[in-house]
Amino acid sequence: MGWQAEQMWRSCLRKKFYRSKQIAEQTVKRIKEERGVTLYVYECPICGYYHLTKKPRKEKG
Ligand SMILES: [Zn+2]
Repeated sequence: MGWQAEQMWRSCLRKKFYRSKQIAEQTVKRIKEERGVTLYVYECPICGYYHLTKKPRKEKG
């Protein structure tokens, strides 16, 4: 569990954060239009804000 928490913490520090999910999702749309890159929004348990990631979060199924 330790390394995962540390990785999350590090990526939290490095990444830009968004204060609301709505803002993050708008940014995702814009990046997709501008660069054709698909990003995903996730809520960060460390800072409590939202970050973008290239990897989709694993959902059930
Ligand atoms: Zn964070």
